[in-house]
Amino acid sequence: MKEKFEIIDDWVGNFWVELFPVLRGLRSTGIVEIPDENVSRFKSYLEENGVAYQHVAVAELNEERRKRGKDLFLNHRHENLFYIGDEARKVRTLVEGDRDNDFFCVGMMLGYPDCCVAAFFKRGTESVDIDCLKRNFSMIAHIPCSPACPRTTEYDYKLRKDKERYLKEIADDRDCL
Ligand SMILES: [Zn+2]
Repeated sequence: MKEKFEIIDDWVGNFWVELFPVLRGLRSTGIVEIPDENVSRFKSYLEENGVAYQHVAVAELNEERRKRGKDLFLNHRHENLFYIGDEARKVRTLVEGDRDNDFFCVGMMLGYPDCCVAAFFKRGTESVDIDCLKRNFSMIAHIPCSPACPRTTEYDYKLRKDKERYLKEIADDRDCL
């Protein structure tokens, strides 16, 4: 993966929580939703930056889940899912886990804390106030087990610091031109 990459948070909604950690080597995989009009642009970006990916349409994922008798993926914002990662084999494992709607596999591949994955599995999402659980964290993609989950706190802090560091590196580079 390249050391310097363009920040594309203006057209990739979850750039900082899904793509940035993978580009920086802080997480091995991520899942990014992309609208139809940006699919080819996003593919080029990933290829230029040496990120492995698999593009799966939501309809295709749900067709596969239906065949396997699994719950469908419903709360999506866009029609295209990009499973991304530092290695193609990890991306394949992630896709396979998501087709099976296997929380544990997907959570593990995405680097979510065990405590949060276990809590999610136990209680689901219907009775929880997700905004409240996430309010202390700006850099996470998962639903924390509590607003004070120590492992989430640590991860969020590490990423926030790294974001600051990266923004500074970019700014310093610009000053040298
Ligand atoms: Zn937790």
